[in-house]
Amino acid sequence: MNTPVSTVALSNKNRQKDAAIAVVSPQAMFDARLREIDRIGVAIGAPDWLIDELKRFKNIIKRSFRVRKNGGFELLTVIRVQHQNPNSTGKDPFKGGIRFHPGVTEELLRVLAMDMTFKCALANLPFGGAKGGIAIDPSQYSTLDLRDVVEQMTMELLKDRIPHPDIDVPAPDMGTNAEMMYWIENKVAEMNQYFSLIPNVPAAVTGKPVEEGGMPGREDATARGLLIQLDELLKLSGMQISPKRTTAVQGFGNVGGWAARLAESTFGLTISAVSDKNGGIYNANGVDMAAADRWHKEHGSFAGYPHADHITNAELLTLPVDILIPAALENQITAENANDIKALIVAEGANEGITAEAHPILRANGISVIPGIVANAGGVVVSFLEWSRNRGPRPHKTEHAQLLAEAHVELDTIMRDTLRGVWVASQECGCSLPDAAQRRAMEIIWKKLKRKHSYPD
Ligand code: NAD
Repeated sequence: MNTPVSTVALSNKNRQKDAAIAVVSPQAMFDARLREIDRIGVAIGAPDWLIDELKRFKNIIKRSFRVRKNGGFELLTVIRVQHQNPNSTGKDPFKGGIRFHPGVTEELLRVLAMDMTFKCALANLPFGGAKGGIAIDPSQYSTLDLRDVVEQMTMELLKDRIPHPDIDVPAPDMGTNAEMMYWIENKVAEMNQYFSLIPNVPAAVTGKPVEEGGMPGREDATARGLLIQLDELLKLSGMQISPKRTTAVQGFGNVGGWAARLAESTFGLTISAVSDKNGGIYNANGVDMAAADRWHKEHGSFAGYPHADHITNAELLTLPVDILIPAALENQITAENANDIKALIVAEGANEGITAEAHPILRANGISVIPGIVANAGGVVVSFLEWSRNRGPRPHKTEHAQLLAEAHVELDTIMRDTLRGVWVASQECGCSLPDAAQRRAMEIIWKKLKRKHSYPD
């Protein structure tokens, strides 16, 4: 497993193409999302009111604030987009991550908030869809400066009653983590002491550290949920997970890192390639994940890792593997490179990892896709467990192992159920899994909104 390989099946043609994973603007992403709602709306005979609801946003909050940075000041803007909530807001909150990444824009957050609405509907969770973020690169901040960003952001959002367990519950996303969720919770608790804003502070934010009311199993839940669905899809397709199945994972953060580790250690797949934003490594005989993980922790990237060939992110996407897991940024598989994808199955760990134009190309080439609104729901599923548990009695540390076991069982049940529902819908409509997922999500929301607002039809 550990010998260097020189057999990377990449042509010079691919290497040249590599410089450019095509750039898709957030506005173009948003326009494409609206077109998809129209297209699927026609396919399912959706009433005009549903299309109108789904294209609008309940609330878009933007607030600017000052933070300390490197001894000086910086002016930042936090954006929180609340899409639609087919459940009762005030009882069933909006739900969605907070992203810290230079690419954050209002249009991008709109798309990601829409995805959350559909994702929660498909997994049958009592949440509306939201997303928030700040256009910063967190790696450029000291811990104390980053804490200042998170605390000032929280103070601004509190002016709009966010976070709140019944109104809007944030969670980690790209560039944010459990520690930052604790900083949010801690700031809210401090304010609550004076103003009694919130009935139940721990339930106002999920993805917290386990010692601070977080749910055991939340950290790797997105990756684990995705792998559970891969297992289910292979079974439904008459195949099996086995070490013969090779896998490439793009991104080595929360989703990608855990996907690669668990794929090898728990699900028995062979990891052929992994990457982070600086590039990746490939070994046709399998990457030794323990060694690669150690290297990444010690060096902060895969640069110099001796037991594999070094590849770019664009090369990783077109490797000859069975399973491809894009788990970094949006818009990685586009109309430009879709014809070069060789995997049999693509499981979208990243939200919007595949563009609308790339989907029909993958389908025409016989590639099965588990779309992000299905495949990466594991995080919000275990966030739901955390939110629910935070509203009840507080577990003692001695109960953590039992909670972890329960979380794994519930995650397994919900992820398999969701995948099977979409699979059956795809058989019924004779369409791809992504189309079936979008149809099913819109039908679920259609029913709920009809009841909520007594819409005709
Ligand atoms: P993260 O910040 O923990 O990790 C992101 C990873 O992507 C890092 O390894 C980074 O180096 C890499 N990366 C950044 N830019 C890249 C580029 N241009 N090319 C290749 N790799 C790049 O983020 P995360 O939480 O793992 O989120 C990744 C994706 O999964 C996002 O689309 C996010 O919305 C989605 N997602 C996350 C969760 C969750 O629970 N964290 C849940 C659902 C969906």
